[in-house]
Amino acid sequence: MGAVVLLSLFAPAPGRLLGQAAPVTEVGDRDSSALLAIADEYRVPGLEDRRFTHEEYWGAVGSALDAQEGSGRVSVAEVGRSVEGRSIRAVTLGQGPVSVLLWSQMHGDESTATMSLADIIHWWASSPESDPLRRRLADHLAITMIPMLNPDGAERFIRYDALGVDVNRDARRLATPEGRILKAVRDSLQADFGFNLHDQGTRTAGPDGELVGIALLAPAADEERSWGPVRQRARRLSAVIAATLREEIPGRIARYDDSFTPRAFGDNMQRWGTSTVLIESGALPDDPQKQELRRLNVLAILAALESIAEGSLETASTAPYDDLPMNVDIENDLLLVGGQVVTESGVAHPLDVAVVYDDPVARTGPRYGEIGDLTGERALEIVDATGLYLYPELEGGILRRGGEVRLSVRRGASPESELVRRIPELAGE
Ligand SMILES: [Zn+2]
Repeated sequence: MGAVVLLSLFAPAPGRLLGQAAPVTEVGDRDSSALLAIADEYRVPGLEDRRFTHEEYWGAVGSALDAQEGSGRVSVAEVGRSVEGRSIRAVTLGQGPVSVLLWSQMHGDESTATMSLADIIHWWASSPESDPLRRRLADHLAITMIPMLNPDGAERFIRYDALGVDVNRDARRLATPEGRILKAVRDSLQADFGFNLHDQGTRTAGPDGELVGIALLAPAADEERSWGPVRQRARRLSAVIAATLREEIPGRIARYDDSFTPRAFGDNMQRWGTSTVLIESGALPDDPQKQELRRLNVLAILAALESIAEGSLETASTAPYDDLPMNVDIENDLLLVGGQVVTESGVAHPLDVAVVYDDPVARTGPRYGEIGDLTGERALEIVDATGLYLYPELEGGILRRGGEVRLSVRRGASPESELVRRIPELAGE
C-alpha cells in the first residue's frame, strides 16, 4: 500500500454533535464544476473497465497513493477478511467530530462507486496542502470508507458472496463475515451518516422512459415508513445529492422504492441511528464502463460531505428528493413496433418484437423477448417500425423467445431492399 499510515480505526470520535456553522451555500448554488474537476484530475488509472478484482483495485489505489506527499493523510486498516480470506480494508480520512461511513460493492458486480471512492482517496492524498475543501472536510468529519465489501463476489463479478448469500439481506442474522464486518465498523464508529453505494439493474427507467442514471433512497426504518429524526436527516442528504445531480443529468434521477426491507443494511442502519442514503448507479447512454457515473458519484459524495461539514444540510429542503419520480423496472431494452416480420417462406406477419440484451449496459447479446402485439408495452428504446419490414435469421426455423436476435430492418417487402437498421448493430453502422 505504499507509505500509508495505520491509525486506530476505532478511536471514539471526540463528540457526537453536528457542525454548528451557519450555512454558507444554499442547495443548488453548489459549485459542481470544482467537484467534477476533482473527479477528472484525480481519476485513478487502471480502473477503466468496471470489472476488476480485489488485487487489481488495491494495486491501482496503492500506485496512486505511492510517492504522494499527502499519503500520510490517508490511513488504511484491515477490518476483517472475506469468506475466501481476502482482506477487507477501511480507509479513514479526517479527524473531525462527525462520523461518516461509506461502503461499496457489497454486491460483487456493482463496482461503480468503488471506482469513485478510489478517486476521492487519491484526491485526499494528492491535493495541495491548502486545498480548502479537503481541509474543511478533515476538520469537521471523520470519514471511513470500505470500498469493495464483498471482494469474493467482485472476483467473479457476481452479486453474492462466496457462501452464496446476498450480503444486503444479512443485516439481521449477520451470518456472513462481510455483514459482520460492516456492522462491527458501524458500531465502533457509532456512525452519524452512512452511504450505501450500489448499482441498480440497468433496465430501470423514469416516467418518460429515460434510462435512470442514479436512483436515491432514504431507506425506511420501520413498516410504517415513518420519518424519525435519523431518517429525516437522510432525506435531506438525499435532497442535497438530488439537487446537485439534476444539474448534470436532468430527467435521469429517480427515487428507489422505500418499502421496509427488514433484512437489508440500509434499513437497519437507519434503525441503529446512522442516517443512511442509498445511492444506486444505473446506466447512462454511451457509458458502457460507467465512467461517467463514476465521475457523478464523486460529485454526489463530495457535495453531500460538504453539506454535512458546513452545516447547510441541517436546513436543506427535502423537496429535491421528495419530488423525484419513482424508479420503474422495465422488462425490455428495445421494442420494434408496428412492422411486418417476414419469415423464411416470404410471408409478412404484423408482429412487434421485444429485444433484451444479455448486457444491457454494453448492449451486447440481444435476445428475443415477447413477440406479438406489444402496443403500449414499455422499453428503454422504442422504434416505430410502421411501414418497415423485419427480416430475422431464424434459429431452427422459428422465432423463439430467448433465442439470439439477428435481424435486419428494411424499407421494403424484399430482403434486398434498403437497410434501415441491423440488430446486433455492426461496427460502422
Ligand atoms: Zn446492490
